[in-house]
Amino acid sequence: MVIVGASAAGLSAADGLREGGYDGRIVILGDEQHEPYDRPTLSKKLLVSQGEPQLHALRTPERLEADGVTLLLGHRAVGLDVDRHYVVTENGDAVPWDAVIITTGSRPRTLVTTEAETLPVLRTPADLGLLREAAARYGQVTLIGAGLIGLEIASSLSGHHVEVTVINDLELPLRNILGEPVAEQVRELHRRHGVDLLLGVSVESVSGGPGSYSVQLSDGSTHRTSFVLVGIGVEANDEWLDGSGVALDAGVVVDAAGRASVPGVWAAGDVARLLSHPSLPESTRVEHWTHAIEHGRHVGLNVARGSHADYAAVPYFWTEQYGRRFHGYGRIRPGDTAQLVEGALDEEEYLVLYGSGEKLHAVVSCGCVRSLRGYRKLLERNGTWREALDLTGHTAPIHTTSPPTPADATTNVRKNVEAS
Ligand SMILES: Cc1cc2nc3c(=O)[nH]c(=O)nc-3n(C[C@H](O)[C@H](O)[C@H](O)COP(=O)(O)OP(=O)(O)OC[C@H]3O[C@@H](n4cnc5c(N)ncnc54)[C@H](O)[C@@H]3O)c2cc1C
Repeated sequence: MVIVGASAAGLSAADGLREGGYDGRIVILGDEQHEPYDRPTLSKKLLVSQGEPQLHALRTPERLEADGVTLLLGHRAVGLDVDRHYVVTENGDAVPWDAVIITTGSRPRTLVTTEAETLPVLRTPADLGLLREAAARYGQVTLIGAGLIGLEIASSLSGHHVEVTVINDLELPLRNILGEPVAEQVRELHRRHGVDLLLGVSVESVSGGPGSYSVQLSDGSTHRTSFVLVGIGVEANDEWLDGSGVALDAGVVVDAAGRASVPGVWAAGDVARLLSHPSLPESTRVEHWTHAIEHGRHVGLNVARGSHADYAAVPYFWTEQYGRRFHGYGRIRPGDTAQLVEGALDEEEYLVLYGSGEKLHAVVSCGCVRSLRGYRKLLERNGTWREALDLTGHTAPIHTTSPPTPADATTNVRKNVEAS
């Protein structure tokens, strides 16, 4: 078996293969030089830790050996031959497979300055080093894009004496993910902690370089800053499959079992576009850590067992902002009603349900970990709104929320810059 991509989904796929009884050879190809590490900590504690950041390894060499997994780092796949069954690497190797699991994940969308310099992003330890150095040197960072990663960076840095500005063309960032009432709380948290939020404005262009950037905004103003980092969403690492015959649509298209369009080829994690899933209204890529782990394992199990079981785990994410942990299960949909069922929005813990009619679509909380378990189970078995309310003493609806379509803030920022 060959797994391409050595991170959360790839390692979990190997776990699934072994758990499912596969006892042959497993090779994982990864293009990074680092041993696989915990990516989410890059925007959290590692951004502000004292001394050299210590990456948290996902597997020890001993564990890989015990599992019979050969990890080939620095091996970028550049092609897939689906007739002769091998993966071609940048080094010219042809790695044979009986089945291949694609877990090449995603990478940040980028923006370039008027001088054609690609602006920094945060995805890898090298990116982390650059951001830490800039934050220490300039004490000032501007983030373009107020997605989960951008706002986590803002939260981490602003607590460490860095002057942070966030630019986003939506007035209410994260509304599509957290829902309106929770997104409003998060926006206010950032304001209270001194982050300068420039919302409802797009970036027209960026010029200059480290130490002195000028950001032209759609309202005609110019924002000057020492350092700019871009967090405007991600795109799938799938171009190495161009021309292979594997169906791609901004990601590797997979069915509910994780099978790609070509026999023997599977995909999991950020790179996989799920054609159908009980919690997701349309085909989509899920770009969260826990999904990568659960989907990877599920696909590994299917491959090992020769089964085609549907993947139905309810999508989950968490984010940390100012020491608070926000959790989300399911997917909020346009027009959903929001109902606060635990805590109060101005307190440290609260829980909000989202749904319409008799349907429960999602639950988002700040803290409230114990209660979450029950709602997750309910979402898993497609429970109703009434059943969700019965889980707790409920109050009146607080909002009707209409999350923006996927063409959200970050995409618009990008379009504006590309058009300039
Ligand atoms: C800074 C940061 C913070 C995050 N925080 C959270 C969080 O708090 N909560 C949450 O739910 N999610 C979070 N995420 C998202 C989460 O990290 C991703 O959803 C997860 O990493 C996806 O795992 P994956 O294995 O599918 O892909 P990836 O982690 O992207 O791994 C894919 C691997 O494949 C490699 N690769 C790519 N192309 C090739 C090729 N051609 N050949 C060989 N190897 C290749 C890549 O270099 C990479 O090592 C965060 C992401 C970032 C960047």
